[in-house]
Amino acid sequence: MSLTQDLAALRDGFARTARMPVVFLGHGSPMNAIQDTPFSRVWTGLGAQLPRPQAILVVSAHWMSRGTTLVNVTNTPSTIHDFYGFPEALFAQQYPAPGAPDLAREVVTLLASHHGEADETWGLDHGAWTVLKFLYPEADVPVFQVSIDMTRGLDYQLEVGKALSELRDRGVLILGSGNVVHNLHAVRWGAGSAPHDFALAFDGLFANKLVDRDFAALSDRAGLGSLLDMAHPTVDHYLPALTVAGASDQRDALTFMTDAIDLGSVSMRSFIFHPA
Ligand code: ZN
Repeated sequence: MSLTQDLAALRDGFARTARMPVVFLGHGSPMNAIQDTPFSRVWTGLGAQLPRPQAILVVSAHWMSRGTTLVNVTNTPSTIHDFYGFPEALFAQQYPAPGAPDLAREVVTLLASHHGEADETWGLDHGAWTVLKFLYPEADVPVFQVSIDMTRGLDYQLEVGKALSELRDRGVLILGSGNVVHNLHAVRWGAGSAPHDFALAFDGLFANKLVDRDFAALSDRAGLGSLLDMAHPTVDHYLPALTVAGASDQRDALTFMTDAIDLGSVSMRSFIFHPA
């Protein structure tokens, strides 16, 4: 089945239920935001099929907190250019979507047992806006971010996802943005670079466990062992995938959208849990 057919089938499923899907996108290089790449084309195609949500809750690899789960409650989240060494055209990008402060404050309460706190300092980092601009190019859907607490075990993000999952029935699209494999020390520059063995191994293991709904294995640091350390010298890009897994349930079908390894060590694997 082609990608287009896959996405069209998704839309048929969306028409049958009000329950929102949960989406994980591998965002990779910020340059995807201003280039026509295989990945930006997938995001555009996905955006054409997704239902229009009441609001979007983004868990990005690039908003890390320590000891708290922060929820941005600003009216107009700023576009954060949290990178350096890129062309001026990338710094000129803006994603002027409104915030969702009332809903965000509810989410603070929803995450009380995960040390939820309202935040007015963040906006939309590049993990959020570089993909949102393809999903919802008009920037007219309210959006807010939730941070990842870097002081917890991997299973903590599964729990956060589970706590957030009830929002799916209220028209909220939960979007995780990171990478299933993300080792920038091992990047091989140049288009079409061969993937590292460890990248293929971890990406494949992740996909298999996700299909099996074996989330315990995906959050078992000891069980994942040195392969996790190779795939993720730091786990910030991994955690949003676990949040998304945690927000899924047994009723959902799972569809993968891409499984490419970019630059040798960055998995662009993206997936969606959606009402079957
Ligand atoms: Zn990133």
